[in-house]
Amino acid sequence: MRQKIVAGNWKMNTVYKDGLELATAVNSLATKKTSDAVVIIAPPFTHLAEIKKVLSVVKLSAQNCASEESGAYTGEVSVSMLKSVGAEYVIIGHSERRAYYHEDNAILAKKVNLTLSAGLKPIFCIGEVLPERNANKHFDIVKSQLAEGVFHLSPVEFENIVVAYEPVWAIGTGVTASPEQAQEMHKFIRSEISSKYGEKIAANTSILYGGSCKGSNAKELFANPDVDGGLIGGAALKAEEFLQIVNAF
Ligand code: PEP
Repeated sequence: MRQKIVAGNWKMNTVYKDGLELATAVNSLATKKTSDAVVIIAPPFTHLAEIKKVLSVVKLSAQNCASEESGAYTGEVSVSMLKSVGAEYVIIGHSERRAYYHEDNAILAKKVNLTLSAGLKPIFCIGEVLPERNANKHFDIVKSQLAEGVFHLSPVEFENIVVAYEPVWAIGTGVTASPEQAQEMHKFIRSEISSKYGEKIAANTSILYGGSCKGSNAKELFANPDVDGGLIGGAALKAEEFLQIVNAF
């Protein structure tokens, strides 16, 4: 059966010392967690190697990776570098990468391929912006993000994908999708996966919700049958609140 997952995306926050303290606190609280959710943190690149050393029950993710394997790509970080410091996951296609760094589905598909070939698991982010929802295009947008970003994979490859539905209008805004809106879209995503890869793979795929998920609303979001956890931004920067979300199952 599919895993429950709560993943914290720290974005460009914390200097090294603060990051190490936060990771240590999250790991310590996670040793006493009351849910069976897998706990993941995605700190900035600069912290990954040292943070890995303080983690026992918490898994490590990167927030991004290069779209090339190695070589003359100044400033980029490759999947093999991430693997070499103990990362197990890579967030790919976050809306901030799509919007500010112009990462389109073709680039993201390359990143997904590289991530899988390094033995890492992509947390593949999809979601519509507000004008798209208002124009009732949100299902079409999500459908094409899946089709162009991950549906080129073989069934065996796809089994390593975690999907994160993050309506862009809910990210960092304090406006959370309602439990009904989240369930409706997650059910749709699972049905798209089922049409492409079959019911068994769809039933085993973890689909996370992201967008202003916090300690106070995680329970009602996670109570939905197709919501398998969360990708958490702001609330992942406070160890106690992050663990409150982990324990919301
Ligand atoms: C995110 O950036 O993935 C996110 C969900 O952010 P926040 O929880 O702050 O809305």
